[in-house]
Amino acid sequence: KDNNLLTNMALKEDEEQTLRPQMLSQYIGQSDLKEMLSIYVKAALKREESLDHILLYGAPGLGKTTLAQIIANEMGVNIKITSGPAIERSGDLAALLSSLQPGDVLFIDEIHRLPRYVEEVLYSAMEDYVIDIIIGKDTESRSIRIELPPFTLIGATTRFGDLSAPLRDRFGAVMRLTYYKQEELEQIVSRTADVYQNKIDALAVKELARRSRGTPRIANRLFRRVRDFAEIMTDGFVNEEITKLALTKLGIDRNGLDESDYLYLKGIVERFKGGPVGLESLAATIGEEVGTIEDVYEPYLLQEGYIIRTPRGRVATKLAYDLLGIKYYEGMLE
Ligand code: ADP
Repeated sequence: KDNNLLTNMALKEDEEQTLRPQMLSQYIGQSDLKEMLSIYVKAALKREESLDHILLYGAPGLGKTTLAQIIANEMGVNIKITSGPAIERSGDLAALLSSLQPGDVLFIDEIHRLPRYVEEVLYSAMEDYVIDIIIGKDTESRSIRIELPPFTLIGATTRFGDLSAPLRDRFGAVMRLTYYKQEELEQIVSRTADVYQNKIDALAVKELARRSRGTPRIANRLFRRVRDFAEIMTDGFVNEEITKLALTKLGIDRNGLDESDYLYLKGIVERFKGGPVGLESLAATIGEEVGTIEDVYEPYLLQEGYIIRTPRGRVATKLAYDLLGIKYYEGMLE
């Protein structure tokens, strides 16, 4: 049963697994968060208790799953990995929880997508390490109580706001992952090149880092594509020229924006005169899912200042107009 829940994740994870740092000291960036975490871990180890439940939130690919695995390693416990949509019935959750050893970590990715009735079972598990489940039907039904070992729930979400208050309140610590800085991404790219045993020059490292949207997963993905070019053209040596060539062929511009970002920005500027435009209308116009736009495209475009959010919808900034080569004048949006 557990295996079923894990398969989906495992497939996609395989390729990333080799690149994951194993301990906190190897985890690059997020320094404030690492500092807090190392204190929590040390204190829990000293008290010989399980670590308090932790909620990690931030854009996809920033390192939430990696961090959860590191926490388990640092605590010296096992980790079970699943995701919100994979747990369809309360019985699935009960099976997972009762398979844990004392102190183990249960990692639930996309925890905001847990079905509500499953979420409710989680409350007592988190608070008192017990679950009550109903078995049988109608008049025959009765509730049985299952005692659980103390465990640590690590939840990950891209949408803090979509979590219900009772669930949020049951986490002892809520930690936000932020986009990585240029120097940090450079370290990540260098490390990845090392793991794949590819030589890479400093300018190529810089270029890859700059075009990775502040996101380690994207840095690693781009590296793998550039490496393909390098293997054919230079026997695997990744230099600046090949990097630029490959990234251009992939449709990634010098700021790391890709075709989807352009489609999105053009949507606002050309179809809606720069905005404000509501998310739903924009999504329909460019043929993209609302969720993907909110989780993947917008956070970075907001942070980089290409768009702003107003109560009446999204608005493109001068930066977006400049990027698209379209003239912008003050007050044109009023
Ligand atoms: P998330 O769970 O937030 O979507 P992951 O933990 O799966 O992100 O990370 C995606 C990839 O990026 C992994 O392959 C991981 O090796 C790499 N990565 C993430 N954070 C870091 C980091 N701080 N240092 C080095 N590599 C990282």
